[in-house]
Amino acid sequence: MVTPVRDIRTISLPDLETLLISWNEPRFRARQLYEWLWAKGATDWEAMTNLPKALRQRLRETFTFHTLRAEVVQHSADGTIKTRWLTHDGYRIESVLIPVPEDERYTVCVSTQVGCSLTCSFCATGRMGRKRNLAAHEIYDQVVLVNHQCRQTYGHSLTNVVYMGMGEPLLNYANTLESVRRLVTPPPEGLGMSTHRITVSTAGIAKMIRQLADDGFRANLALSLHAADDAKRSTIMPINETNNLEALMQALEYCYARMRNRISYEYIAFEHFNDSLEDAAQLVHLCRRRFPVRVNIIEYNPIEGASFEKSSASRLNAFIAYLVKHGITVTVRRSRGKDIDAACGQLANK
Ligand code: SF4
Repeated sequence: MVTPVRDIRTISLPDLETLLISWNEPRFRARQLYEWLWAKGATDWEAMTNLPKALRQRLRETFTFHTLRAEVVQHSADGTIKTRWLTHDGYRIESVLIPVPEDERYTVCVSTQVGCSLTCSFCATGRMGRKRNLAAHEIYDQVVLVNHQCRQTYGHSLTNVVYMGMGEPLLNYANTLESVRRLVTPPPEGLGMSTHRITVSTAGIAKMIRQLADDGFRANLALSLHAADDAKRSTIMPINETNNLEALMQALEYCYARMRNRISYEYIAFEHFNDSLEDAAQLVHLCRRRFPVRVNIIEYNPIEGASFEKSSASRLNAFIAYLVKHGITVTVRRSRGKDIDAACGQLANK
């Protein structure tokens, strides 16, 4: 038997209809099949129980079907679940489900690349290097499969998606956008999520932030800021050397003027590095641009070999109080899933 090479998920719904009609199947079968492939997140042909067995067999003989396989699932004491997925070609990536039942908020953090080419000094993923970009369906599948996991574990569907896992989404631009497009497309083609529930986070690539606006990108945008001063930011995020703060601010202004996206700054607080009142004053300055912005302060999770410490409660409280006093909207994200290396900056397929 010849091994099929074409992945069925490269075929559009109209083309599937044409194909199945040529196989003497009724048109509605194509829609049923498409629903399994995209909205229902089937991971093998056997799961497609409303398709006749003979049709499933013919499909199996004609197409490949690339999906993610859960390799390791780890449960944190705080309810966070980290899943390590195996791609069809043997790479490993990770997603994290972060439940906050009291707020009815169930968020998945997805990866966009295997590893990452940027070398932020506080991040375990950056040490892996970049192996390859994920395909759009590999990004999308993480959401669909974690949605199943969320329903089974918490009896609730996902409410939010954040592109903050392994990789820099804007360096896998086309696939990131295509995955967002599919997430917001109604079933059977997609999940029908609201763009307001989706946040793409970037380390800061000014040209691609502008491109988002030119391409009509409507989801939320988060900039991993982590320092409000160029010299300091460049020491922890080398990407800042070619994309400095002024270039990033101008790109965000451009994006907001066209798309009115919700914009936030992510700010990991490191003890005696970026948590002084002078740092807070610089951050306030960056919040006074021509777009509204909120600041998400993230508790630091030490990784092996990094020299940073997390900010003490007293320094962090003073820092936050300064921001609030100056009218900045601040949320503080306590770290989740630390015991399973699922917290921010810890994803490295351990
Ligand atoms: S923080 Fe993000 S951009 Fe920086 S190395 Fe880690 S995964 Fe890459």
